[in-house]
Amino acid sequence: MTLTIDYDFRKQIQGFNLSVNYCYQCATCTGICPVAKMTNGEFNPRKLIEASILGLKDKLIELQQPNVWYCLTCQKCVEVCPQKVELTEIFDVIKNSCVKEGKIPDAFNSQAISVLETGIALPFSDPIMKRRKTLGLEDYKTADPKEIQTLLKGIGFDKLLRFEAPTTNEKEGGK
Ligand code: SF4
Ligand code: SF4
Repeated sequence: MTLTIDYDFRKQIQGFNLSVNYCYQCATCTGICPVAKMTNGEFNPRKLIEASILGLKDKLIELQQPNVWYCLTCQKCVEVCPQKVELTEIFDVIKNSCVKEGKIPDAFNSQAISVLETGIALPFSDPIMKRRKTLGLEDYKTADPKEIQTLLKGIGFDKLLRFEAPTTNEKEGGK
């Protein structure tokens, strides 16, 4: 795939968080990132910022190389960046664009559906509920799911999600 500069996308990122312009590609963020370490550099926050500065939308949204969804939002990179680049905020713009273009990973799509239907991202499993009972803890409580649905549907959240079961190919990451 030939990568082209998408000026609108670049403007969108800069409009959301101007700090992206201050990055001078020192890679301090990548040096401290636990995910970069665990993936031997396959995930690389410096490269995400570089592609954002250049407006390489295809690389960030279509190819997802590096894959922004690997970020744990631990904020270590933000703490050490000498230029005070707000990396995770910039990653939010990239993630939002992925969602709008139907490129949300299955795991996050499932969590979003769970929030919509039950009010929580990760429902407690039966063993956890039993353990809570054994420990004398109360049942967990959440806000009324109907209220949550009204709010989320009001902003069109449900229209961004995939409700059909993933195909075998999708389950395997489209490889
Ligand atoms: S630490 Fe900051 S200035 Fe250095 S590459 Fe990362 S974002 Fe850019
Ligand atoms: S916030 Fe994301 S990119 Fe930054 S150090 Fe943590 S995992 Fe890495």
